[in-house]
Amino acid sequence: NDRNIESVNSMIEDIVSLLQPHARMKNIEIGIEGKISDYILCDRTQVKQVLINIVKNAVEAMDGPGEITISAESKDTNVVILIKDEGPGIPDDILEKLGEPFFTTKKNGTGLGLLITKQILERHNASLTILKNNDRGSTFKLSFPK
Ligand code: ADP
Ligand code: MG
Repeated sequence: NDRNIESVNSMIEDIVSLLQPHARMKNIEIGIEGKISDYILCDRTQVKQVLINIVKNAVEAMDGPGEITISAESKDTNVVILIKDEGPGIPDDILEKLGEPFFTTKKNGTGLGLLITKQILERHNASLTILKNNDRGSTFKLSFPK
């Protein structure tokens, strides 16, 4: 447990440069919208792990070209990070099972990504909400206390 005051924007930028090359091989562009200047008290490695897990899932969910959009918003008491994909979306019966140990719909999935994600978020008093997009795909919404 190694907590410091970390820039939200710099954590997002780090993981985008990490995952962009792999995404581009699938013709997926990862874009950042709305830079914010907020800082949160957190374990930088763990929060980056959370962002990596969610963005990797987004890349894996999309089988054609498209865009993943990461945006951050500064609220009164918290910072919201939205990760929007253009995948097929998540059916309700599967939505209920997300984060259960070893639950995966992938041939070579571990089903551990969202479990670890939830555990890290709990330690940070942060929350995860999964939203259905109007057009297609899903949006993962993270909220961290400032
Ligand atoms: P894994 O990636 O190893 O399957 P995860 O815990 O990361 O394990 O994800 C569990 C399951 O959640 C995935 O197998 C997939 O069915 C579903 N899922 C997660 N993110 C998305 C997404 N963005 N779009 C569609 N399905 C998703
Ligand atoms: Mg995963």
